[in-house]
Amino acid sequence: MLCLALGGGAAVAGYSLVDRGDKFPKQWEPRIEPLAREVERLRGLKFKHAVTTTFYPDAEFTERVTNDDEPSEQDRADLDRFAGAFRAIGLAEGDVDLQRDSNTLRGSGVLAYYDTDEKRIHIRGTEMTLSVQVTLVHELTHALQDQHFDLAKLRALDAANKTEASKSLIEGDATWVEDEYIERSLSKKQRRDYEQESKKGGEEYDDEVVGKVPDILILDQQAAYQFGSAAIAMLRNEGGQRAVDAVFRKPPTADFVMMNPIWLIEDRTKLNAPELAKPDRAKNYELTGEFGAAWWFSMLSERIDFHDALEATDSWASDSSAIYELDDKVCVELGWDGTDRVATENMDQALRQWREAMPDTRAVVVTRVDDDSIKVKACDPGRARSAVTHRSRDAFVLPLFRAGLAAALVDQGAPPHTAWCTADEALKPFSVAELNSNSELFETDRYQRHLRDSAKLCKTRSVEA
Ligand SMILES: [Zn+2]
Repeated sequence: MLCLALGGGAAVAGYSLVDRGDKFPKQWEPRIEPLAREVERLRGLKFKHAVTTTFYPDAEFTERVTNDDEPSEQDRADLDRFAGAFRAIGLAEGDVDLQRDSNTLRGSGVLAYYDTDEKRIHIRGTEMTLSVQVTLVHELTHALQDQHFDLAKLRALDAANKTEASKSLIEGDATWVEDEYIERSLSKKQRRDYEQESKKGGEEYDDEVVGKVPDILILDQQAAYQFGSAAIAMLRNEGGQRAVDAVFRKPPTADFVMMNPIWLIEDRTKLNAPELAKPDRAKNYELTGEFGAAWWFSMLSERIDFHDALEATDSWASDSSAIYELDDKVCVELGWDGTDRVATENMDQALRQWREAMPDTRAVVVTRVDDDSIKVKACDPGRARSAVTHRSRDAFVLPLFRAGLAAALVDQGAPPHTAWCTADEALKPFSVAELNSNSELFETDRYQRHLRDSAKLCKTRSVEA
């Protein structure tokens, strides 16, 4: 995945295999204990130890999670290389300073973190506001996960597979518990106050981040939480807590699985990653692992119809990515394997349409390798070209809406496969703007009728299958 090279995440998601189990306090701090008990109840697991929590004033916390060090020459070169790669696939434009951007994201976006090395929670804020309580619930869930499933081991698995699949699982589970806490543990009044508080926080975040940091970085930061929690909801509604714990013991190895949780339930796995070959004359050729479903979808939805982009992305079976330099330009090579010939044909057409809409079509090559494989090569069009449409920012409502609807249908008793099919069919006639207005759309006859028709269609399909 391209973003892994951003590195520097150590301050936030710091982990190492050093065992410092002696750091656990004998008992919970009195103001934390009730929250810990609530987390145990909602998650359905018991803490093996209490955990230390440290509160920091705003500025001090920001300092902890950002990195002001002047990057070394090598780091600077790496960051520029990745900026060139983002421009090559049309997800960034102009001057991109990835260190500044990741600092901006962390400085305003990170509210707390659980340190898997020190086994402690660090939190922004000194008072127990509702936002702090909710954030603590999230971080306490991480501590609980760590005590039962070993987060360092899960993250090492992600590093080995070059994906963020386990991260989505970890964040999705914590976000699910956080949402349940808001929904079920807060009183009506508290929930209203909390919504006010978080709306204000959200606006501040938007002011500082949106439009200043490339959309793909914001999305990449949020994808694990949003897709992860939708996938956890589907899993829970189908198999309860036991199903969630089972996935923690045998985590997914591809990001795609979290965006398409039916894969998680049906225990489907990706094919072997397509092999990439270093082009002649290429310099500094580096294999960067799985590109990931969220990135394919972003890339396509910047330039082609949202529904077409999602349908093409859905036919994913496996992928791989590489970065290199050619004639002093940064280039990206992507390998795509589809589930079958028809699916691959679909992606092939989507990519050709995408290429036509790129700022410099000469810098992009799409090659159909065989029935099931496609290769894309794209080189940095330079800083002068404007490339970004910001359409991908809105597009994510599509897969998120689908996952949420599928989870709700499973909750109502639909078999997972039928629920997934129904949710997929149900959103097809609606625009992104309509889906973004969600509660209004859900109340329309047009939506309700189409949902019923989709359910009927999918039931017949599953009988035939
Ligand atoms: Zn988290």
